[in-house]
Amino acid sequence: MNGQEEKKRQLVADGLKSIWFPFTQMQEFTPDDVLIIAEGKGVFLRDVDGRDYIDGVSSLWTNVHGHRKEQIDRAIREQLNRVAHSTLLGLAHEPAIVCARKLLEIVPKGLTRVFYSESGSTAVEIALKMAFQYQQQAAGGDPRKIRFMSLTNAYHGDTLGSVSAGGIDLFHATYRELLFPTVKAAAPYCYRCPFGASYPGCRFDCLSQLENLLAAHAHELAALIIEPLVQGAAGILVQPPGYLKRVRELCTRYGVLMIADEVAVGFGKTGRMFACEHEDVAPDILALGKGLSGGYLPLAATVATEEIYKGFLARFDEFKTFFHGHTYTGNPLACAAAIANLDVFAEERVIEGSGEKIERLTQGLTPIASLNHVGEVRQRGFMVGIELVADRETKALYPPAERIGHKVILEARKRGLIIRPLGDVIVLMPPLCITTEEIDRLCEITYESIRAVAGE
Ligand SMILES: *Cc1c(COP(=O)(O)O)cnc(C)c1O
Repeated sequence: MNGQEEKKRQLVADGLKSIWFPFTQMQEFTPDDVLIIAEGKGVFLRDVDGRDYIDGVSSLWTNVHGHRKEQIDRAIREQLNRVAHSTLLGLAHEPAIVCARKLLEIVPKGLTRVFYSESGSTAVEIALKMAFQYQQQAAGGDPRKIRFMSLTNAYHGDTLGSVSAGGIDLFHATYRELLFPTVKAAAPYCYRCPFGASYPGCRFDCLSQLENLLAAHAHELAALIIEPLVQGAAGILVQPPGYLKRVRELCTRYGVLMIADEVAVGFGKTGRMFACEHEDVAPDILALGKGLSGGYLPLAATVATEEIYKGFLARFDEFKTFFHGHTYTGNPLACAAAIANLDVFAEERVIEGSGEKIERLTQGLTPIASLNHVGEVRQRGFMVGIELVADRETKALYPPAERIGHKVILEARKRGLIIRPLGDVIVLMPPLCITTEEIDRLCEITYESIRAVAGE
């Protein structure tokens, strides 16, 4: 063993001894599973052995313009020459102000106030508390409105409020006793329709149920929370066209605030800057995270309408202040990265250029869809879910112990692609900067990896 190999072996051993990895069964996490990333450039990550991999899930759905994007690197360095951190609690700084102003220029209409935090979970937590408190104290609110409606299969983060709004049993069921109950509407999951419908012939039972639930519970609902267009963590479940628009109409009709959780789908992932734009929808509260800083630093934002904001204005001793704020809220380095991220979107006309890439991705996925153990390929923009099944006819799942999704991603790794599955759904979500040639490679490796594990 040479010095370099010995050093790596030691790193892996130390990592396994000292870190409790997130979302990971540590008992089955072996030295072979530990890939140590040393650097990145563009769409590639490089490990300590110098091997390059396509970053096929954008470093957990965050990266936008690639790693070591010059403009973003520079913006962070320049900010570092000024100050790394100063609080937003009672003070301000230029990056937070400029970032908020630029964000408000592009978010759906009517959203006027940016509340910063650090993660998607906190952005959602803040949205829930804002909606709740607004109803308690605003002139336009209603103090009986103390509950939330959410969707089955929803994922809104891992803190207890966002877990309460979540609907993925594998992640959330354990904590049930700790959570506040929500009114749950069945999300559209057309491949496995909860109402047994099929295309053609879908009667939109999910929307009928949602409307019935709204009619029955509107008097006690502060807000409805939804991942617009795509439920990400559930396995890239794509909502049918018109669904989101209808949900917005129903919220308005029944006087329930709408919270759009665009933590995953925001910043170009669906082919538009925000998913809500596809259906011309403006939520009352918007939660942003992941891609906000271009995938560089932890930064999140909860953006509210002026009406909600005004519901908190009063003399101090009326106690309508929003008593919420995290220590690193609006960190200057993270805001500088976000400003540069938004500038790159505009300067390089990134959204305008993504149509061709999305089409190329659709083409690349076609052969994958014909593999015998691929039940469904779902795509919306750069977001792809490939659902593996034991039997295509019956849509039967593989036994969980087989860890078929995990096996596929290990095969992909051997071939130079880093991806992460959601159960038996293989997820692809490349950075927006990916080239058409790199898209072809991404799809080829995915095809070969699935075939190697599940057969033709
Ligand atoms: C990832 C995600 C979150 C949570 O974000 P964190 O930064 O991991 O806390 C919330 N909502 C959605 C839709 C997400 O995909």
